[in-house]
Amino acid sequence: MAETSAIIPVFDGHNDTLLRLAAKKMKSAEAVFGKGDGSGHIDLPRARAGGFAGGFFAMFPPPVTMANMDEEMKAARYDLALPPLLPLEKAQASTIGMLSVMLRLERAFPDDVAICRSADEVRTAMAANKIAAILHIEGAEAIDADFANLDVLHAAGLRSIGLVWSRPNIFAHGVPFRFPGSPDTGPGLTDAGRALVKECNARGIMIDLSHLNEKGFWDVAGLSTAPLVATHSNVHALCQSTRNLTDRQLDAIKESRGVVGLNFAACFLRPDGAMRADTDLDVMVRHLDYLVERLGEDGVAFGSDFDGAVIPAEIGSVAGLPRLIERMRGAGYSEELLHKIGHRNWLSLLERTQASTQ
Ligand code: ZN
Repeated sequence: MAETSAIIPVFDGHNDTLLRLAAKKMKSAEAVFGKGDGSGHIDLPRARAGGFAGGFFAMFPPPVTMANMDEEMKAARYDLALPPLLPLEKAQASTIGMLSVMLRLERAFPDDVAICRSADEVRTAMAANKIAAILHIEGAEAIDADFANLDVLHAAGLRSIGLVWSRPNIFAHGVPFRFPGSPDTGPGLTDAGRALVKECNARGIMIDLSHLNEKGFWDVAGLSTAPLVATHSNVHALCQSTRNLTDRQLDAIKESRGVVGLNFAACFLRPDGAMRADTDLDVMVRHLDYLVERLGEDGVAFGSDFDGAVIPAEIGSVAGLPRLIERMRGAGYSEELLHKIGHRNWLSLLERTQASTQ
């Protein structure tokens, strides 16, 4: 049938494209996104080719100095040191830089890009064939303890916050990149972190648990009125990385009617935890099978980590999304389930998050 080979629109849980583009001069960032230059994973031509309908665009305040993670994580075992606290001013400056890139992309490509503030706006953008972008913070270092910046960022469109990246901040403690390792790597949320959960609940801002350590996860699970979400994490039983979710965590996410986005990073997929591009897509299907089994068909989506990780070469970039979908079809995934994992589950999750606002 013609439909079975149709491209499935993908609304994706996580990318680091704004970080990649923010490193360029502004005009060049627009040109690189609009025309593509072959670098990175996401630009407009390849997004169109792959059926990329949008997703959570992360604003990730990078550490002052960044070790060559990709090299270190090729090893059979690794335990990267946690970066130090990032000062508020530094995080604010880089976060505003990435927010500005997103705003300028929307202005430069009004027929192709829309910043969305609700599930309805995502639906409207997708219907108009625009890339629907939800603004996300990966690591809340740009937010002060009085939440003044939270008000400003929310007004600018922010609708999703990961309390931490893999480092500590004033709110919580992220897991170090360690393999093999348990996600139980340190203390839970601080008082400021507990307050931030309430502030997010009050504004309908989604709380992302990816990168958070296990004690922090359980603190959010006990406090938050919203469904539990890990935008870009995988199955710990299949790949024993600190960044992946244990069965107990998956069960709690299911109970809250939450969602897990499959991370395409080889190091969070492979049983040996190595950051290698020569990774067969079958391992992605094994994680998806496990997630569907544990979370149900409404609890699984994608969270690619495009522009933020080494992904299987067979996917290569956002243009390769149909190759993953095709592999899932081959493994017996129905068209209905492909549409759920492709985008519907993120849309429903955004609706449930908005409905839980209090
Ligand atoms: Zn991440």
